[in-house]
Amino acid sequence: MTHAIVQLAYLAATVLFVLSLSWMSHPRTARRSVRAGVAAMLLAVVATWIQPEIVNDGWIILAIIAGFVVGIPLSRVPLTAVPQRTALSHAFGGLAAGLVGTAKYYLWSSQSPEELTTFRMIAIVTEVILGFLTLTGSLMAAGKLQEVKWIPQRPVTYPGQNIVNLGLLVIAVAIGAALVFQPLGPYSHFMFPAIIVLALAFGVMLVIPIGGADMPTVISILNSYAGLSAVAMGFVLDNKLLITAGALDGSSGLILSIIMCRAMNRSFANVLFGAFGKVQARAAAGEEKVYKPETVEGAAQVLEQASLVVIIPGYGMAVAQAQHRVHELAEQLRKRGITVKFAIHPVAGRMPGHMNVLLAEANVPYSDLVEMDDINADMAQCDVALVIGANDVVNPAARYDKTSPIYGMPIIDADKAKTIYAIKRSKNPGFAGIDNELYFNDKTFMLFGDAKAVVGELVKALAGGSGH
Ligand code: NAP
Repeated sequence: MTHAIVQLAYLAATVLFVLSLSWMSHPRTARRSVRAGVAAMLLAVVATWIQPEIVNDGWIILAIIAGFVVGIPLSRVPLTAVPQRTALSHAFGGLAAGLVGTAKYYLWSSQSPEELTTFRMIAIVTEVILGFLTLTGSLMAAGKLQEVKWIPQRPVTYPGQNIVNLGLLVIAVAIGAALVFQPLGPYSHFMFPAIIVLALAFGVMLVIPIGGADMPTVISILNSYAGLSAVAMGFVLDNKLLITAGALDGSSGLILSIIMCRAMNRSFANVLFGAFGKVQARAAAGEEKVYKPETVEGAAQVLEQASLVVIIPGYGMAVAQAQHRVHELAEQLRKRGITVKFAIHPVAGRMPGHMNVLLAEANVPYSDLVEMDDINADMAQCDVALVIGANDVVNPAARYDKTSPIYGMPIIDADKAKTIYAIKRSKNPGFAGIDNELYFNDKTFMLFGDAKAVVGELVKALAGGSGH
């Protein structure tokens, strides 16, 4: 009876997972998608717990408590830290898969070696390699994004690195293949731990040559590895829900990585082996480029005269949590009959949809958000482009400078607007670590300061003005 209920619950959870992914593709249904995803996970976990062999084992209580102790603080991180939080979730997923594979191997070796069939051994080896490399790879990625001191943000490279990395993986797979043919051969007591150590080392080596700016893409690639290791775990445990949920996780991670790579005009190989974000040799000491700072009052006067204002938000708006002020600013401008649009770059911020989520939180109507390709057609008619904490996504060097690390990335054509105001705190570069010539453009004026404070002052200046 319990078995039938559990299988039904797993089926319902699978359906809900699929619906959740499908609903996630539109903002109107996104909330429903999250609820469906939570319900599916709850159903899956509770259905697993109620099985007699699990519920009667006291150890499970400890595991549940440990899950809550780690999970609750993880759920409370700010939105800007979601990429590293996601990486930590993948690390735990990889660790769980790796441990389950290891436990099953040793349990079956000692109690019922006939269970170690060729098929199961392939699944165990796959699960253990993918699980453990996801663990260390994700921990490194989270560390880089969190800017942990002892993990270098910049790519660490050395000659022959790709060969060393590939070599580690090939050795791990070769040992795994040998184990598949002879699960309990004379050297198996040494071979299984060797696979674990090699996979752990490979995870670290895979991520150290990749710069911090590429970590979101790496995280989503690791997401797909974690999903695949869950599929393998499903085969080991003969659990259909793990197989389907893992396949959904694996494929969605892969699709997301491809979307991100496209938006940056980069290939997978370039992300994984391109050492993006390496300190660029600076151009020979030429004349110091000059910024033109502007006052909030001056900017407010020009904004008031505009007919079309395009707001281009970026990572800085997220850091400053300026989205509510930005919405107020748009409202102030609209009151004056000015058309206001928000230009959304697919990789603005630190995760796909970052700007959409923030602006939706501030109740900016979704119809005001315009995708990069659509807004670029209007940029020449735009009177004021207001760049709020965006940098790389408006850097014109991406169009023509073949030496630039962002060369080829499609950008929002802020430089085509009649006047450009850029809000940022300092002269520091954005995530790609490069200067932005947009800021030195004749038409560009800088509003230096924290985005929330500056936009707040702009709102005040406009509210204090004539209003007509
Ligand atoms: P960005 O190039 O990182 O620039 C953000 C700018 O915001 C910085 O120049 C910074 O300058 C400013 N800033 C930071 N805090 C601020 C604050 N409190 N107030 C005002 N300004 C602040 O950001 P982006 O233009 O959004 O570009 C995103 C980058 O991330 C791209 O390189 C993209 O390829 C990469 N990336 C994104 C994703 C994704 O999915 N979204 C994935 C992979 C990679 P100051 O320090 O001077 O203030």
